This record gives sequence, structure tokens and C-alpha cells, in this order.
Amino acid sequence: MRRVVVIGGGVTGVLSAWELARAGHEVTLVEARALGSGASSRSAAGIRAQFGLAATVSGQVYSERFYEGWTERLPSSQPCFTQNGYLFLKSYADDLDAVRALVRMQRQAGLAEVEFLDRAAVDERWPFLDTTGVTAATWCPRDGFLFPAVIYQDGAEAARALGATIVQNDAVVGAERDGGLARAVALASGRRIEADVFVNAAGFMANTVSKMFGGRDLPITVERRYVYFLTGLKAASDWGLGPEDFPRLPMIVTPCGAYARPENAQLLMGWLQFPKPVAATLDNQDEVEPGFGIGATDYGAAVRKEVTQVLPAAQDMGRLASVTTGFYDVTPDHNPLFGYDGAVGNLVHAAGFSGHGLMHAPFSALIVAELVARGADVPALELPFGLGPVDLGIYALDRSYDLREGLVI
Ligand SMILES: Cc1cc2nc3c(=O)[nH]c(=O)nc-3n(C[C@H](O)[C@H](O)[C@H](O)COP(=O)(O)OP(=O)(O)OC[C@H]3O[C@@H](n4cnc5c(N)ncnc54)[C@H](O)[C@@H]3O)c2cc1C
Repeated sequence: MRRVVVIGGGVTGVLSAWELARAGHEVTLVEARALGSGASSRSAAGIRAQFGLAATVSGQVYSERFYEGWTERLPSSQPCFTQNGYLFLKSYADDLDAVRALVRMQRQAGLAEVEFLDRAAVDERWPFLDTTGVTAATWCPRDGFLFPAVIYQDGAEAARALGATIVQNDAVVGAERDGGLARAVALASGRRIEADVFVNAAGFMANTVSKMFGGRDLPITVERRYVYFLTGLKAASDWGLGPEDFPRLPMIVTPCGAYARPENAQLLMGWLQFPKPVAATLDNQDEVEPGFGIGATDYGAAVRKEVTQVLPAAQDMGRLASVTTGFYDVTPDHNPLFGYDGAVGNLVHAAGFSGHGLMHAPFSALIVAELVARGADVPALELPFGLGPVDLGIYALDRSYDLREGLVI
């Protein structure tokens, strides 16, 4: 049993705290604001196991199984996972042999349900899509969307039930060192918490936290992303999309990388277009930059237009009513970072999720628990559900960053 302080109460910190408490450690999670105050409450909340690197595919298959069994694992919780599937549309710009090879790799990595579909199959299954310019697609019905607040609230409750302490509205503001180790963290309230291991799960603030410990400069840049909502939806039967079709829509990803999915009675949409590093704080997460609002010449209108190319019903599906925004913590290869700091021998980093930390969180928590159990970096991890060992080298802090995750939206 070790005393562990987890810094950050987003999905990574909360599920890590739960996994660590389950393993019998004495866990204190410290969150600067309320649980979910970072990216976890600002997410598009998609989950897929269709990734470009085998370890991430296997890890995400694990995450999907974890979330499928959520209410059995956390009996007092509500379901947190809607499995409408993910449909990645491809165009003439895509090398379809490479797409077929990708699907083969994903199946070998444990994603049995993923399919390569030609255009005729897409037309047959989703007749309301406009497939002009679409050549093929990949489809996995096991993918879908999550309810983030259920994950971090009920996850924290379950961690508490296992003995973890959850501190909110009190930021870590400093760390005491004892040679090459950290001994305690200092909180804004003046409180001091000693521990044997410290887990940096501070999301886009992970570098700031690392520096408080005298830890390394993490290769994370912070970028802003937007999510737009169409509201006041009506059945768009002129486009072949009946009232029963709307709630079953998958996450649809256009060949250019825009995406749309149902969110209750709204259509949630996003698109990665203008990534640029920003100076992020906990206080500027919700700032909408000029040009990224919902006016006729704003980015929201461009996102809707791109979605409309493949989902023509979106032009009749109500008003572009709102925009939300938050930060991605992005690494050079878009794979997260897990491992011991090196300069601080008992500081574990779990950050750099590059826009897929919500789906990654159960897998992240397993990795964090293994790192704490071993007291050293872990080259490979045996996954539950017979998913086999996965090579964790692509997440190591000292990797070469040349194995890039290509499937990032
Ligand atoms: C617009 C948008 C769309 C996204 N879409 C998806 C998606 O479809 N699917 C997906 O999987 N992911 C998506 N993501 C990414 C996902 O939301 C994040 O990767 C994930 O939430 C990261 O969780 P986290 O717990 O690591 O970090 P966070 O949720 O950011 O949590 C970090 C926490 O640390 C706290 N903190 C910071 N500093 C301190 C301190 N000094 N002391 C104590 N606490 C501190 C913060 O308050 C925060 O609550 C999206 C993100 C955005 C912004």
C-alpha cells in the first residue's frame, strides 16, 4: 500500500484514483476547482477504438468494454455509454489499400467489429447521407459517445466508497522536495499532503504542475477546440431522415475531418481547422475567439456547411444555437504521455491526450495503477478481457515521437 496524491479531477484523475483505491492504496485526489472543471466537461465525448496504432486500438477496446460494464463496476451509477457507432467517410484523397490495411490491423488488435465499407454499402445503410465524393468508409458499431459528468461524478463517488479522499476547490500550488523525490504537495488553502507517489493528471495544466515539482518540461502544447450545436431539431424527412433515425445517428466523420453526432435533441458538430498553441489557464477555457462564434460568417457556419455536405438534412435541422470551447493537451505525435518524470523519482505523468482523453481514461487508469504498483516505468501491460499484452513504448516520456497517431479529430 502506498500513499498516492492524484492532481486533477478530470476523467483521468478520477478513474486513476478509483483504480488505485481498488488496488489498496491510500489515495487523495486534489482538484483545483470542481470535478470536471477542465477539458472533461467541454468534450465532444466520442469514444472509438478505430485508431492508427495497435496499442491504442487494444487500449480503446479495453476502454469500450470498461464503459459497457460501467454500472456493474459502479453499481450506484447510471449508464455512461451510447453505442451508436463511428463512421469515418473516405474520399478520393484517401488510399483505400491503406484504409483496408488499417482495418486489418485494428481487427488483429482486438477490434473484431470494425468493417471496411464500399460506397454502395454506405448508401444502403445510411440512405440519408450524400456520398458524392465518398469512396468508402470504416464503420464500428461498438464505438459511440459518453456522458462525461457521469464518469467523473460517479467515478469519484466510487473511489470515495473505496476509501479515497476527494479534495475540491483547492489547487496544488507547490511541492516539497527531498533530494530526487517529492515529499508533499502544498495546497492553496495552506494544507500540506504527504505521499509516496504523486500523479500529475492536470490535463492542459500538466506542464505547470510538473514545474511546481521541479519536473521535466513536458512536450505538450495547448490548442483550443470548438463544439457547435444545432438546436430546435425537426424531423428532416425531405432528406430521408425520419424521427427514429436521428437518435440512432452514429458519429459521422467527413473525409475532411468534420464530425457530427446527436446529443439529446441537438446535433453536436466539430472540426479541427486552425490549431495554434494558446496560453491556457483554468480561467480562459470558455473564451470564444473572434470569428469562431455562430454568426453567418463565423467558423460555426463553416462547420455546419462541411457537415451538410454529407448529412444534407443538417441544413434543415434547426438553428445554429450555441458554441462551447475547451483545450486539447497535444503532444508532437498525438499519443499521450505516461511515465515517471526522471528528475522527480516519484512523480508520474498522465497527460497529453491530444483530444482523446475521455475515451482513453479507463486505459489510462490501468496504466497509472501499474506504474504505481511497479514503482518504475512499464514497457508493456497485460490487458483484461484476453486483449493480450500491449506495448506501452508509444506512450513513454523519452520516446522518439515518430510513431504518429494519424486518426485524430
Ligand atoms: C472541444 C473538445 C472536444 C473533445 N472531444 C473529445 C472526444 O470526442 N473524445 C475524447 O475522448 N476526448 C475528447 N476531448 C478531449 C478530452 O476532453 C480530454 O482529453 C480529457 O477530458 C482529459 O481529461 P483529463 O482528466 O486528463 O484532463 P482535464 O479534464 O482537463 O482535467 C484536469 C484537471 O486538473 C485540474 N487542475 C489543473 N491544475 C491543477 C492544480 N494545480 N491543482 C489541482 N488541480 C488542477 C483542472 O481543474 C482539471 O479539472 C475533447 C476536448 C475538447 C476541448
